Amino acid sequence: MRPLAYSRAATIEEAVTLASDDPGSAFLAGGTTEVDLIRAGIARTDHLIDVNDLPLAAVEDLPDGGLRIGALARMSDVARTPAVAERYPAISRALLLGASEQLRNMASMGGNLRQRTRCAYLRDGISPCNKRDPGSGCAALEGFNRGHAILGTSEHCIATHPSDVAVALAAFDAVVHTVGPDGERSIAFDEFFLVPGDTPRLEHPLERGELIVAIEVPGARIARRSVYLKFRDRQSYEFALVSVAAALEVEDGMVTAARLAFGGVATKPWRARRAEAALIGAPADEASFRRAAAAELEAAVVRRHNAFKVELVTRAAVRALSQAAR
Ligand code: SF4
Repeated sequence: MRPLAYSRAATIEEAVTLASDDPGSAFLAGGTTEVDLIRAGIARTDHLIDVNDLPLAAVEDLPDGGLRIGALARMSDVARTPAVAERYPAISRALLLGASEQLRNMASMGGNLRQRTRCAYLRDGISPCNKRDPGSGCAALEGFNRGHAILGTSEHCIATHPSDVAVALAAFDAVVHTVGPDGERSIAFDEFFLVPGDTPRLEHPLERGELIVAIEVPGARIARRSVYLKFRDRQSYEFALVSVAAALEVEDGMVTAARLAFGGVATKPWRARRAEAALIGAPADEASFRRAAAAELEAAVVRRHNAFKVELVTRAAVRALSQAAR
């Protein structure tokens, strides 16, 4: 039995102060990730700071037509918010394709962004894993790596980021808002997730005690007909082998604007900017979509068991872009 302290913060300032003062602490929202990691002995947390009393669960309109999603909003509530479903269908769909209904009812949006990889070697607690035990090695490099990443990897870690909704948020330039010991910060989505490089244990640029308070998604007309597709080994309660968020604007058969992001294939929610650049000005047809995906995947590094992801994510991108173009 490990002793575990519990505090319940009444204000954001109290939550930040409690966490800043205690290196063994972690915030508790839905608990669907943190409690798992504590039980498995992966997280060495010995003090949970419950933030569920904080007023951070609203989904609000922004003046530019975008949305501010409170960090404590539950996944299922956000998915079913009419403004999300109508203006950002890819975000709503990605939420509904994640986890299970029970988990979606508990899991918070902020916690979703902080969830850790499902790499089995990290979670077994004994295999070499640079994320869990820096310098110990990476068992996945020569192990069973069918589910691992092909983009954004390093020789120190090839774990995928598991979130669905983060892929859709990446496509629409979301911004993460935080409050920490040094005050408020806004972090561009791309910068919020770190690629492993030679420090895989670092996953976010957050300081100790820094709390996610909201996610803002700028207004974007292109998002209204966006698509999220997810491919996995079974149809429910499973992480993506590959997923794609896509949106297009097409005039006279030519692409004038494009948003594309990949999940399940990269060490972070992967904005496919090379593919987007290749799409602009190209005919909105299957050949262009395939060429765009190939441009993004030039940087892919495949391992023994995961080379199939190159073709799978290419087909998924072609299908998602074709749907978005219709
Ligand atoms: Fe650990 Fe990353 Fe290697 Fe998995 S892929 S064993 S998380 S270092």
